[in-house]
Amino acid sequence: MEGNNISVVIVGAGLAGLTSAILLAKQGYTVSVIEKNKFPFHRVCGEYVSNEVLPFLTSIGINIRHLNPSAISRLTVSSVSGKTIELPLQMGGFGISRYVLDQYIYQVALSSGVKFYFDKATNVVFNDEQFSVELASGDLLTSALVIGAYGKRSNLDQKLKRDFFYRRSPYIGIKYHIKTDLPADLIRLDNFQGGYCGTCKIEEDLYNLCYLSETKNLKAHGSIPEMERQLLFKNPHLNRIFGNSDFLFKQPEVINEISFIRKDLVKDHIIYCGDAAGMITPLCGNGMAMAIHSGKILAESIIKIGRAVSPEKRLLMEKDYERNWNRQFAFRLRAGRYIQSIFLDHQLSNIAVRAFQKSAFLTSMLVKSTHGKPF
Ligand SMILES: Cc1cc2nc3c(=O)[nH]c(=O)nc-3n(C[C@H](O)[C@H](O)[C@H](O)COP(=O)(O)OP(=O)(O)OC[C@H]3O[C@@H](n4cnc5c(N)ncnc54)[C@H](O)[C@@H]3O)c2cc1C
Repeated sequence: MEGNNISVVIVGAGLAGLTSAILLAKQGYTVSVIEKNKFPFHRVCGEYVSNEVLPFLTSIGINIRHLNPSAISRLTVSSVSGKTIELPLQMGGFGISRYVLDQYIYQVALSSGVKFYFDKATNVVFNDEQFSVELASGDLLTSALVIGAYGKRSNLDQKLKRDFFYRRSPYIGIKYHIKTDLPADLIRLDNFQGGYCGTCKIEEDLYNLCYLSETKNLKAHGSIPEMERQLLFKNPHLNRIFGNSDFLFKQPEVINEISFIRKDLVKDHIIYCGDAAGMITPLCGNGMAMAIHSGKILAESIIKIGRAVSPEKRLLMEKDYERNWNRQFAFRLRAGRYIQSIFLDHQLSNIAVRAFQKSAFLTSMLVKSTHGKPF
């Protein structure tokens, strides 16, 4: 591929950053990715991926079948007290651990010519049409463009004074890999007071069990095992899953300060994608697809710049990306927040499950409003 004069630094090698990196490198950009963790590694995630990503991943040489994922076509939702509905997932999805998936996409990025720095970015400065990215090791990278693909919350958000960083983030996420006896084609979503838990099969004979809980639940019960006993086990389905499964991690993977509030897409000319641009509630099972899709539309806006960046072209690119991002994701994020608020409430979750039991139309609207079309 013929090169061009544009260098891009991407902070964060999650699905959003890796997607942009691969697309830009394939177009001849000089792409450097900074990632603070070494592959492979575990992340807190439900590890269910909507099939909407498959055409795009195949088009860039990522063949998910090689990873032997599970194929998921049914969703069962239970209310806090255990009432259930089952619904078919029209588009369906697959289950694959982030440990395996991210490592595979990282390899594709390497073979596309992306350069990786396993280091922590500590500051980004834009001056005289050029970025300087400072790393914890003391190294400094310079580039014409910087993409912030560093996930839901990072040291950089504080350093760069992003508004959302100073607002409350009242959720924690907890993940296990387990061996259990659930059907391989089913994803379960079991609600408990102030949270919900997803379970689905991933590769080999493994299952993912991952839940989101209000942080106050943990504060009230003092420890994760006690919170699980006092809240999750009240849902009879979760009680059965926890009782009948082998838990494979010594300690669960845990993240806190999860926030779903609106974020800026561009600040000081840093362009954000994936969770760094806005996070959909995990209930929708669609964050990974959105991370990949936003990485794609960002790379497409950048590619429209042509062979060199000017202040005018930079502004046009930023506007183009914001317009496309809002068209694709703004409604979905709002719908996800609204639906989550219903399911986090004991009474409302029972009412919602009863309403969905009665109306196939309502259930299919629920799934459609939080998912995109294949891209
Ligand atoms: C509890 C829970 C369950 C979920 N379940 C699902 C699900 O089942 N299906 C689904 O589709 N989505 C799910 N999601 C959402 C999904 O995990 C995210 O939307 C997706 O991973 C976002 O990808 P990303 O590339 O934006 O960010 P990430 O995957 O978070 O990647 C960001 C990267 O940036 C790196 N980084 C951060 N700061 C720095 C720095 N300063 N310097 C260098 N590197 C840095 C991090 O190490 C990380 O590797 C879930 C989320 C949660 C919280």
